[in-house]
Amino acid sequence: MPGSISAQVLREEDEMRVEIDLELCQGHGICAEEAPDVFRVVERPGAYDRVEMIMESPAEEARVRIEAAVRYCPNRVLRIVD
Ligand code: SF4
Repeated sequence: MPGSISAQVLREEDEMRVEIDLELCQGHGICAEEAPDVFRVVERPGAYDRVEMIMESPAEEARVRIEAAVRYCPNRVLRIVD
């Protein structure tokens, strides 16, 4: 998608990736509430806060929490790519 920005995490075992469209993220923090070990929100003065990945390689046991973050993100900017 032209102009989109994404963050990507690759897992060695099964190549699970979490994609984030950072241009559409508005820093609600729902993701960080659902998976606080995976996501955090960074303040950006003068702009919307923005999510950032905490973990380079989320453990499989975090998958359910990440799926909840994907489901409840109001802007629908998170995606797990298997
Ligand atoms: S819930 Fe969605 S829009 Fe809000 S900070 Fe997380 S990824 Fe960004």
